[in-house]
Formats: sequence, C-alpha cells, structure tokens
Amino acid sequence: MQAVEATPIERELILSVHTPRYLDLLDKLSGLDRTVRLDNDTYANPWSYEIARLSAGGTIRAVDAVASGTVNTALGAVRPPGHHAMPDHGMGFCLLGNIALAARYAQQQYGLRRILIVDYDVHHGNGTEAIFYGDPSVLFISTHQQGIYPGTGAINDTGVGKGVGFNINVPLMGGHGDASYAAIFEQIVWPAAIRFEPELILVSAGFDAHWDDPLAGIHLSLSGYAHLTRELVHMANQLCGGKIAFIVEGGYNLDVLSEGVANIA
Ligand code: ZN
Repeated sequence: MQAVEATPIERELILSVHTPRYLDLLDKLSGLDRTVRLDNDTYANPWSYEIARLSAGGTIRAVDAVASGTVNTALGAVRPPGHHAMPDHGMGFCLLGNIALAARYAQQQYGLRRILIVDYDVHHGNGTEAIFYGDPSVLFISTHQQGIYPGTGAINDTGVGKGVGFNINVPLMGGHGDASYAAIFEQIVWPAAIRFEPELILVSAGFDAHWDDPLAGIHLSLSGYAHLTRELVHMANQLCGGKIAFIVEGGYNLDVLSEGVANIA
C-alpha cells in the first residue's frame, strides 16, 4: 500500500456542493471555545470543521490517486463520515459530503462524465442522494435498512428531471444478510452499472450493516462484505479500467469496522 497524506479541501471546492451560508456557520464554530450541537446526533467542537476539511480533502486525494493512474484502488480512511451531509446543513455525524465532493472534484479536475456511487452503509445516503438527485452524470445506488435513520430512501425515489433513473434505492427490512446482498448486487447493481458505463466508481463503505452492529438490524457478515468489495472491484476492472475508491462511512462495532476496512485493503 502507498500512504497518501490528507490535505484540507479548499473552500472553493466545498462550494461545489455546500452553500456559503453553511460554510460561514462552520467557520464560526471554529472560533468558539465549546462544543455545539447542530442536531440531535451531530455535534461540532472548535476543531471539527478543520478535521472535516481534512476528511473531505483525504477523499479528494484518494480520487487523485485513482484518476491520475497512480493506483487502481484507493481507500479513504477518513472521519468524520459524509453521506448524510446536506448542501445547507450537517446531519448524522456528517459535516461535509466527502463522497459528493469527491465526485464533483473528479468531474471538474479530470473531466469525468459518469461517476457511479455505491453506498452499502446500513443507513440511506440521503445527503449524496440530495446533491445528485437531478443530475444524470452521477448514478447513486444505496442499499439500506428501511425505517431507521434518516428515514429516507424509498424505492420510488428515482431522481428528478434529467436525473430520473439515476437514483436507485434498495430499502430492506431488518434480517437480510449475505445472500440478499449478493442477489441485489447481481440483479440490480451490476446491470445498472453496465448500462451506465461509469468512468469511476466511488463507494460509501459503511460497516454498520454487519449483524453485530449496535445501530441496525441487517445481517451482513464480514465475508458478505468482502464479497461485495470483490464484486465492486471486479465491476471497476470490467467497466472503468479498475478505477475505484472506497470511502469509509459508518460502523459502530469497532472490531467489525477495523476488520471490514482491512478486508478492503
Ligand atoms: Zn450508517
């Protein structure tokens, strides 16, 4: 493995996804001397914005490493996560939309026209969905447990305007596991990816769909996760010259999180 150092993402690039008003708020938090709550489960202390800029910046460096051809596969081992961050507010432990920013960066910096984002975190990637909902240049596919946080991700939410058909939600009842996910990848993710012909694949790699995660009730095993990873790498090899970056999202059993991430590497 080659280590790539994270550098803070530039404000200019953050504005490709987030509103100036929200960034001004995050700036202000950096000047305070206490921790504040942005909502029930999203807090920020005076260092949070700086760290969020490193997290998004590390994700950008992962895209650089892949898009420039330095490596085929990259892993963004970043915190905080990003897939719940909305354009104008933080949500669900997320301040900046790491993977959305990475997709926008790949489009601006490398001229990529079609980017596939697969989100197998157990929660719906509502921020990523919102950012690309009307955008056919990014195909977003999310598998998630229905009825848990954040409550979005219905199967008939397929996009708006030119983006219709480029947003695929696969909500699942608790109890689904390796066999269900393997079938979903075979019957939904693969055909959609082949039709879309992505030039880069980005993965919101959350490990909270594991059976022992305290926040959810999906029953993936580490082997099941490893299978999904292999499928995605195989997909990248077949469709876009192997270019794929995994960006860490949730995962609340820390042993599972570390093993899951190690399996990607
Ligand atoms: Zn999650």
